[in-house]
Amino acid sequence: MNRLARVLWALAALALVVGLGSWLYRNASLGAGPAVTLGRLYLQSALTPLLVGSAALALVFGLASGAVAALPRRRARSALKLPALPPLAAETPELAIAVRELLLVLGRQLRGMSVRAEPDIIAIMDLLMDGAIRVGASDVHIHPLEAGTRVAFRVHGVLEQVFIFPREHHSRLINRVKVLSRLPLYQLEKPQDGHFPLATQEGPADIRVSLLPTNHGEALALRIARTGVRLPQLTTLGFPEGLRERYQQLLGLPQGLILVAGATGSGKTTSLYASLGHIQQSRGELTRIATIEDPIEFDVPLFAQTQVNAEQGLTFAHGLRAVLRQDPNVIMVGEIRDSETARTAIQAGLSGHLLLSTIHANSASGVFNRLIEMGVEPFLLASATAATLSQRLARGLCPHCRTEMPLTPEEAVRLDSAGIARGTFYGPVGCERCEGSGYLGRVAFYEMLVVTPAIRDAVNAKVPSARIQEIAASEGMVPLLAAGVERARAGATTLREVFRVVGG
Ligand SMILES: [Zn+2]
Repeated sequence: MNRLARVLWALAALALVVGLGSWLYRNASLGAGPAVTLGRLYLQSALTPLLVGSAALALVFGLASGAVAALPRRRARSALKLPALPPLAAETPELAIAVRELLLVLGRQLRGMSVRAEPDIIAIMDLLMDGAIRVGASDVHIHPLEAGTRVAFRVHGVLEQVFIFPREHHSRLINRVKVLSRLPLYQLEKPQDGHFPLATQEGPADIRVSLLPTNHGEALALRIARTGVRLPQLTTLGFPEGLRERYQQLLGLPQGLILVAGATGSGKTTSLYASLGHIQQSRGELTRIATIEDPIEFDVPLFAQTQVNAEQGLTFAHGLRAVLRQDPNVIMVGEIRDSETARTAIQAGLSGHLLLSTIHANSASGVFNRLIEMGVEPFLLASATAATLSQRLARGLCPHCRTEMPLTPEEAVRLDSAGIARGTFYGPVGCERCEGSGYLGRVAFYEMLVVTPAIRDAVNAKVPSARIQEIAASEGMVPLLAAGVERARAGATTLREVFRVVGG
């Protein structure tokens, strides 16, 4: 639009000069000469009225398109007040904190825009999507509650609230999305699906829309499908350096199973994507990486990704068998939750594939008995598994206002009984950067159990998980609690948070 306006303006100016010149020639009798002869010839030609007419037309078009081009620019300016993430944010360990700070700024702006008597819904939606893209959100949830509409982003697997939108304008927000995705506005009783395109700085994105009627109005889930997004990096996940190096060695294995345990929302999927990203970087683009996921969270150009579709009979187990026939080097299975998938995964790990997956278990040592319960043969399990990981996410302390805090008697007892040294720990205060909460972002910590000959024998003998844990600890595994306490000692989170998420 901008370029078109400039061309039209130039045309208008040219035509105006020519038109004016010819008028002057007609009315002023200047001396003779080649220029005058040329001018007379021009005046006598039939083209003159056409040229003068086109001058006027081009002028009108130029003015109109200039005005139109100026309009969206003004809107975009008002929607782009967010501070940019630092350029290397995807590689910095403080990414979770940077994202949270951006979300707080975004939330403040959106709140300010939405409390007006007549909120500009188009501008709010533009800013919301712009913010979602910038923080790397995979989903936007717009959920009506009794008190207001909760707007939240899913960022690297964790749901983060952005702001509460006034209840009375809920349907206008929903209607904006319906207009964008060409869905009927007055269909309120049935679930609806659609999509709309979105231009972002990193290229086009497709926004998949899902509307669901609820008792408080229509709930909206927007899934952001982008190609070419940058995968999370292993270096941003908060692995202590020694552990990360050991883990990267394991990711270089030609075959075997690496299983990540943890509850929903503990960041397991992020760990798997970061692992796949590392594999691709270190082994090169010729390594074939296939995934079976539910849902596909990151669309990665060089991966062969398959979405589980239970209605069509495409389960994790079916998908995995089909993927194996394609003979990839590395396979990621979103989750192992049934015996068929578990058995097929073990076979894959024994027959020249590196397979990464997640599983519901409380600890790295608990993964083995969980799989034996699913009907996996202990001998095969012991031979196929390379390592198991367990992870937790705790709320991160705001680095701008945290303060040293004395141990409570209970905390001291708990540290003593776990055989962990006491020391200096930190607590929340609250400042402007964290909106007074004292917390920013999330902090992950891990325990990694590498399958050694002693562990293999123990799994084979079907010993209880506690015994496997003892053996692993005696061989140098840092247990989850101790790993969390180290993060707290460094001021990344509080002891209280560590105890809360580790449980027990
Ligand atoms: Zn703070």
